[in-house]
Amino acid sequence: MVAKMDSEEKLIERVRRRFPFSAPWLPVGIGDDAAVLRPGRGADWVVTTDAFLENVHFLRKIQPAESVGYKALARATSDIAAMGARPRCFFITVGLPDALSGKWLNGFLDGMARAARRFGLTLAGGDTTKYSSFIASLTVMGETKRGRAILRSGAQPGDLLCVSGTLGEAELGLRLIQRRRHWQKRWAEILNKQFYPEPRLALGKWLAAHRLASSMIDTSDGLSTDLGHICAASGVGAIVRTAKLPAVRIPNELQRLGLGARDLALNGGEDYELLFTVPKKLAARLPRHVGGVPITVIGEVVREKKIRVLDENGKLTDLRAGGWDPFLKK
Ligand SMILES: [Mg+2]
Repeated sequence: MVAKMDSEEKLIERVRRRFPFSAPWLPVGIGDDAAVLRPGRGADWVVTTDAFLENVHFLRKIQPAESVGYKALARATSDIAAMGARPRCFFITVGLPDALSGKWLNGFLDGMARAARRFGLTLAGGDTTKYSSFIASLTVMGETKRGRAILRSGAQPGDLLCVSGTLGEAELGLRLIQRRRHWQKRWAEILNKQFYPEPRLALGKWLAAHRLASSMIDTSDGLSTDLGHICAASGVGAIVRTAKLPAVRIPNELQRLGLGARDLALNGGEDYELLFTVPKKLAARLPRHVGGVPITVIGEVVREKKIRVLDENGKLTDLRAGGWDPFLKK
């Protein structure tokens, strides 16, 4: 049976109950015509917005509702991490059909509330509407010290190219789903990064506080594509050393799926790691880990505006942007 949809007022109350936060930077939050925000002294606001659509960004039949809510907020918050900012508050607009307004929406909101607590985010407002499928739009705001946001445009020739964590894990999870292996319990850990990504907030803030990164981006679309964004914005090129890539380890049982760890690491999307550049003279100050998250130097920034990979045999080849782009057909 299809659940009868709540009135908008009731729906807003259900949402509000799950996000019972108050914060000094939010004197007026959900429930008035508009929110009132109060930035700290000497601060800049950092704002990002992100669409999350059924069958484009998530598969409702496969992904738990809780994960949909968690991931919608996590991927938007990853952009705040990529600026070196501290998350503060978020706004959500949701469109959904009657059939999803009961148990499914509760799961979605539970996952989102868990993410909000984890990332230190307060819900500041939003809107709900009836629609034929599920759509959500998330706006997340963060705060940095004035002028300290880390941009894509600051990379200089000679800078070291660095990445956090492991690359290709989320893509490996997606490939398991595409090959209908996701229901096998032993792959739960692999699917975890696909369903519950972890924005690198502590590392982003650490890099901003220590002024180590000359440019930064989060790897939402895949290294080859995201590195292209840094290089284009900075007017530089880069060389990636494939031997240095912190590539996902493909379990023996999955070897015959024909997946290449290097391909997953270079082109796999949705890892939400941080890709950043560090001036060579500051390299000695770069730790191997920040808050338990490993940092790997994978190459360097070069003057020539080309992105290339240097393989184990010393051979240089052009790296084509092979990551996710919603406007490109694969
Ligand atoms: Mg981003």
